[in-house]
Amino acid sequence: MDEPQRDPESYFATATGLFTDGGMPDRPRSPAPARPPAATIAEPAREIPVHEETDVLVVGGGPAGTAAAVAAARLGQRVTLVERYGDLGGLSAGGLVIWIDRMTDWAGTPVIAGIGAELLDRLPAGALAGPGPELWGSTDPAQVAYWRERLSAFRETVCRSPMIDPEWLKIVSHELLVGERVRVLLHSWVVAAITEEDTVRGVIFESKQGRRAILAKVVVDTTGDLDVIAQAGGAFVTDSLKDGTGGNVQHCVNTAFTWTGVDMKKWLAFKRDDPAAHRDLMARGRELLGYLDTPHAGWRDDVVVFMGPRMSGYSGIDVEDLSTVELESRRRMVAHLDFFRREAPGFEGAWIMLAAPQIGVRMTRRLAGLHPMTAEEWRAGVPRPDEIGVSPSPSQKFPTISVPYRALVPERLDGVVVGGRHVASDATTQAFMREIPQCWMTGHAAGIAAGLASRTGLAPRALDAGEIRQELREQGAFLHEREPALLPVSPESRAGR
Ligand SMILES: Cc1cc2nc3c(=O)[nH]c(=O)nc-3n(C[C@H](O)[C@H](O)[C@H](O)COP(=O)(O)OP(=O)(O)OC[C@H]3O[C@@H](n4cnc5c(N)ncnc54)[C@H](O)[C@@H]3O)c2cc1C
Repeated sequence: MDEPQRDPESYFATATGLFTDGGMPDRPRSPAPARPPAATIAEPAREIPVHEETDVLVVGGGPAGTAAAVAAARLGQRVTLVERYGDLGGLSAGGLVIWIDRMTDWAGTPVIAGIGAELLDRLPAGALAGPGPELWGSTDPAQVAYWRERLSAFRETVCRSPMIDPEWLKIVSHELLVGERVRVLLHSWVVAAITEEDTVRGVIFESKQGRRAILAKVVVDTTGDLDVIAQAGGAFVTDSLKDGTGGNVQHCVNTAFTWTGVDMKKWLAFKRDDPAAHRDLMARGRELLGYLDTPHAGWRDDVVVFMGPRMSGYSGIDVEDLSTVELESRRRMVAHLDFFRREAPGFEGAWIMLAAPQIGVRMTRRLAGLHPMTAEEWRAGVPRPDEIGVSPSPSQKFPTISVPYRALVPERLDGVVVGGRHVASDATTQAFMREIPQCWMTGHAAGIAAGLASRTGLAPRALDAGEIRQELREQGAFLHEREPALLPVSPESRAGR
């Protein structure tokens, strides 16, 4: 039998235990052991310039931050986005996570719409490989067979889950933000939150110009690692699913890479026509190297992407760990290149296109929010009265998943909302809420909430969920048809803080 259909990252497939070639417990030797923490020193207090004041400040320019900035700007607010690297797109571009997970439900309805879909629609011809709308939801065996090999068909259904060219995603993200008059500050690393009691008033960032402050009516934390909330002393959780409880990968860190000079049609034909030889080849690679990742056809047939091999037991917020994983990932990339060039049909002329400039971190901190999403709730199909988005479900066994606004709002802090892979959820739910489409979705809602809070002067927790839903609809987001009771998120705090 050929390799079973696999969805390289998500809980949807890992729950089936298909991954035997990832997430191995492999902590390679560090070239130099981490030094124990040195003694502390006192940093002298100092005056720092206020770089600017704005209405909505978005920290982090990944999928969630991009969507948040556009959404708030479309509400007529002054928006500044601060990003530590030199481009937008976060892991979906700089991290070479170029496979966009499913945006359609099992019937083919594009439940993740809005700004994420707009970004995909803006990609020029040749920068995206995926089935057209007429095929979404198709169960035609020939279509399923074709698209499964290119990660756009799962569970016998064709989905909107394309491969994209990361450089073009950066470009269309930049153009969209600039077109909406968002001020984009790149090469700027946010290092501290500015708070007054329990309200976030802005951030301090560092750049080549030193340390500066930005003040804002509302801050959106889309750093992926919940940096702003953590810096402000807000609560978060860090538990993750470990190997052995469904083969989940969220605790793994690695640097993805792309090669070109490959003939992916030849490779796919080899897999299809001689599954036993393919299995043998992969087993040989695993035995030789001690690890092996699965190559996936990119957005062109002469590009391949490896989103592993994954390394477990590392923290995405520990600089020693990050350094070790960067070095080891590159070493493994070279070992892969050597093996695939020598042994794999279609890889004879492969050469390294890029090792991701942004290391692949799946989960660090998650928000302790007003209403964390739980597996128990979505498995039971519980609709949320404050629904701000709808996620495709892991399998046809479950209905689509109603995402509550309260998963974006901190338990205690005001002046801040979050979007992206760190929204409030249990570990099982984060396994799919961290996917790029879901991050576009929660980022979009966080931007709307921040825009409304800035416009009205209300605290994010005091916003009327109905108003957020109305604005989301106007901006093209998908929500379930029914109108749930449109309650304020927290009536007692409606006066704002
Ligand atoms: C190896 C790997 C494979 C994956 N595979 C898939 C897949 O196949 N399909 C899929 O849909 N998803 C996949 N994912 C998940 C997905 O890529 C991410 O979870 C998603 O990109 C998260 O989006 P985000 O906007 O929340 O955060 P990020 O994409 O991490 O973006 C956060 C941004 O904030 C910036 N930032 C962070 N801290 C600061 C700071 N202090 N100051 C300023 N800027 C800051 C970062 O530089 C970054 O640009 C994968 C993830 C990994 C790591």
